[in-house]
Amino acid sequence: VKEQGKNNFQFYTPEMNEAVTKKMQMEIGLRKALERNEFKVFYQPQIDVNTGKITGAEALIRWQHPDWGPISPADFIPLAEETGLIIPIGEWVLNEACRQNKEWQNQGYAPFRIAVNISSRQFKQSNLIEMVSKALDESGLDHQYLELELTESIIQDAKYAIETMHKLKTMGIFLSIDDFGTGYSSLNYLKLFPIDSLKIDQSFTRNMFEDAKDAALVHTIISMAHNLDLKVIAEGVETKEQLQFLLLKECNEAQGYLFSRPLPAQEMTGIIKQQYTF
Ligand code: C2E
Ligand code: CA
Ligand code: CA
Ligand code: CA
Repeated sequence: VKEQGKNNFQFYTPEMNEAVTKKMQMEIGLRKALERNEFKVFYQPQIDVNTGKITGAEALIRWQHPDWGPISPADFIPLAEETGLIIPIGEWVLNEACRQNKEWQNQGYAPFRIAVNISSRQFKQSNLIEMVSKALDESGLDHQYLELELTESIIQDAKYAIETMHKLKTMGIFLSIDDFGTGYSSLNYLKLFPIDSLKIDQSFTRNMFEDAKDAALVHTIISMAHNLDLKVIAEGVETKEQLQFLLLKECNEAQGYLFSRPLPAQEMTGIIKQQYTF
C-alpha cells in the first residue's frame, strides 16, 4: 500500500506510524552512538573440541544507550546496514578487535584468531581492502590472527566476491562463511571461494536432537567441509550432548553458551589468563 503514492497517509495505521517513529529515533541514536562511545566489543571464545583450547574469539558488538539500555545487535545491525552506518561502525569494531587481540598477545598469552563479522554492505565497499590493511597496520596484529566472517549473501555479486576474497587471502587473512546453510549458498561457489572454514548456523545445532533432519544436515556439512579441506565450527553449542555429537562427527571447533557467553574484554582476559581449557 505504501507504493500507492507519497501522499496517501491514510494507508498507515497508528501502529505503523509508531514503528516508523521508533525506527527514526533509533537511527538518530545510532548516528550519535560512535562519538558518544556507546559501543563496546564483547568476545566469545571458540574452542577446539579435541583439545578444549581456545583457538579464536568472535568479536560481537554491544550497544548500551544511556536512556534505552542495551540494544541487541539483531535489532540495530539491520538498520545500520540499511542506513550505511554499518561502514563507520564496522570499521570501529575491526580496529578495536585487532587492537585488543594484539594487546592480549603483547601480554604474553598464546595467540589466537580474532573473528570479525563483515556485513555484505561492508564487503561491497570499494575501500574494504584498504580498511582491513589499515586496521592490521595500526594494531600491528599479524595477519594470520585476523579472521573475517562473511555471509553467503556476498554471492549476489560472485565475481567481485571471489576477487575480493582472493585479495584478502593473499594478505594472509583467515576467511570463514558465517551462518552456513541459511543463505543463498550454491555449492558450486564453495569450490570457487578461497575460504578456510564454515560456521554451521546455530539453528541447525539447536534442533539437532529434536529434528533428525537437522542432525543429518550438521553431519553432512561437516563431511562436506572436510572433503573440501575446510575447517568447520558449530555455533550455538549449549549442551554437552550437542558437543558429544559434534565430536563424534569430527567437527573441529565449537562456540556457544556451553563454554561461555560473549564477554567484555576484561572478563575474556580472565578466561585466557587461566589458560582456560574447557
Ligand atoms: P552471528 O554472527 O551469527 O553471531 C552469533 C550470535 O549468537 C551472537 O548474538 C551470540 O551472542 C549468539 N550466541 C552465541 N552462543 C550462543 C548460544 O549458545 N546460544 C544462543 N542462543 N546464542 C548464542 P549477538 O551478539 O546478539 O549478535 C547477533 C548478530 O548480530 C550476529 O549474529 C551478527 O550477525 C550481528 N553482529 C554482531 N556484532 C556484529 C558486528 O560487529 N558487525 C556486524 N556486521 N554484525 C554483527
Ligand atoms: Ca558471526
Ligand atoms: Ca553466525
Ligand atoms: Ca546469525
